Amino acid sequence: MSLTHNKPESVYAEVHGTDDRYPVRRIYCVGRNYAAHKEEMGHGDDRDPPFFFTKWADTYVPSGSVIAYPSATENYHYEVELVVAIGRGGSCIAQQDASSHIFGYAVGLDMTRRDLQLVAREKGRPWDAGKNFDQAAPIGKIVPVSQTGELSKARILLEVNGETRQEADIGDLIWNVDEIIESLSKLYVLAPGDLIMTGTPAGVGPVTAGDSLVGQIDGLPDISVAIAARN
Ligand code: MN
Repeated sequence: MSLTHNKPESVYAEVHGTDDRYPVRRIYCVGRNYAAHKEEMGHGDDRDPPFFFTKWADTYVPSGSVIAYPSATENYHYEVELVVAIGRGGSCIAQQDASSHIFGYAVGLDMTRRDLQLVAREKGRPWDAGKNFDQAAPIGKIVPVSQTGELSKARILLEVNGETRQEADIGDLIWNVDEIIESLSKLYVLAPGDLIMTGTPAGVGPVTAGDSLVGQIDGLPDISVAIAARN
């Protein structure tokens, strides 16, 4: 067999404290999972079941990257999030078993073309162009759960140019990690390599070329990126 073109490169996430790499298969994201962020986006405090959207694996970029201000937007936003890396696959995983499917945790940025997302939302169209675009998923080094233990409470923070813009606790997630894994695994067969961005707290906002972003969760390595001019 010969190929019509070179095989696209695989995506490998960095793992803390080792040269091991975590091959990325899919990136799932949870929408509206902190009450104060739901409110700032104009939604009430109901507890609807979690909903999901996706980003391509190749939107992953490691910490330390310089990423271009994306095309087709004038309102490019950060969203700092706890990322869960799946280590063992399965479908219809019960909450009580969810933790045994976790490989580790990282800090990620669900970068968003907010203007495109809001137009899509108004018109009842898919969010893809607002959420899934080149370099839209900066994710820091993954720390194996064997080192962190199960994470249920920890401060989560985002700074732009050294100024705090988002600050909350992952204990405030509306749907916790075990519940997310239960819900998501009813919709899709999960497999090792699947990353889940668990939702952002309040305080989302725009960035411009020249800005530096640092996302932090206590106990995990930072995610930091710099924004370059539009390509
Ligand atoms: Mn998000």
